[in-house]
Amino acid sequence: MDAPAVFTEGDFYQQHFDPQEYMKEFYTLSDGQGQPNTFLTQSLRSLFKMFSLDGLRGDTLIDVGCGPTIYQLLSACERFQEIIALDYTDQNRRELERWLKGEPGAFDWRPVVKYVCELEGDREKWAEKEEKLRRKVKQVLKCDVTKANPTDPVSLPPADCIVSTLCLEGACKDLATFRSALRNISALVKPGGHLVMLTVLGETYYAFNQQVFSCLRLEKNEVEEAVEGAGFEVKFAETQPWPPGDIRADCDALLSLVARKRAPTSG
Ligand code: SAH
Repeated sequence: MDAPAVFTEGDFYQQHFDPQEYMKEFYTLSDGQGQPNTFLTQSLRSLFKMFSLDGLRGDTLIDVGCGPTIYQLLSACERFQEIIALDYTDQNRRELERWLKGEPGAFDWRPVVKYVCELEGDREKWAEKEEKLRRKVKQVLKCDVTKANPTDPVSLPPADCIVSTLCLEGACKDLATFRSALRNISALVKPGGHLVMLTVLGETYYAFNQQVFSCLRLEKNEVEEAVEGAGFEVKFAETQPWPPGDIRADCDALLSLVARKRAPTSG
């Protein structure tokens, strides 16, 4: 498979991204053949580890490019009181709302929630965690990371933390756009607050449901430099190799990163 000839940006997601198919493909714990989904379990372990770091707590958390998924909030919701989720695509925000409201047909996240509860020490707390997360997500809003104010016309007060998983590399067609998107989302977090990111490295496309989406091919140092350039200090960065033989994407590795926003320099 090849990457799309023209980079697929936000409007392509709006037209072609099927949230249910996406979750079925990437967010079930084992595939049709009963093979474990190591991409997912690695992501959940990384998020658990990052949201256990010192200082990763506070009142407000903003999820940038949430998509239709909640896995990225499962450890986070133990550390923050209020969550705002942002995404470009109407159908993804709607799909997330379906789960939040417990509507029929919403994706079944229970196996994933149980897995995270087990990591956190008590598998039996899964229902409590679901309830907690549903209670803490206060708003689901439209955003565009390529805009100076991603939530325009809404202005959000800066949060204590932002989390962004697998969004910027899909939304940004080149490194310059990626760098400016990081500066844009940096404005959503307070000085001293944190950025938690999961990013794929070396990927040019991913595919599901016979649709191919572009991905900006990134290296670890490019991500770190862009994060530093957006006013953060990298505190934690770890890569995990992508499970070989995966035909759904041409990714090399998964990068987990935590950075702390510097205080503005005066003068
Ligand atoms: N965070 C989820 C979804 C990742 S898929 C996960 O970890 O699985 C990529 C997401 O980026 C999609 O939900 C898509 O709607 C969103 N996206 C694409 N372009 C965007 C843009 N310009 N601004 C904000 N989000 C965008």
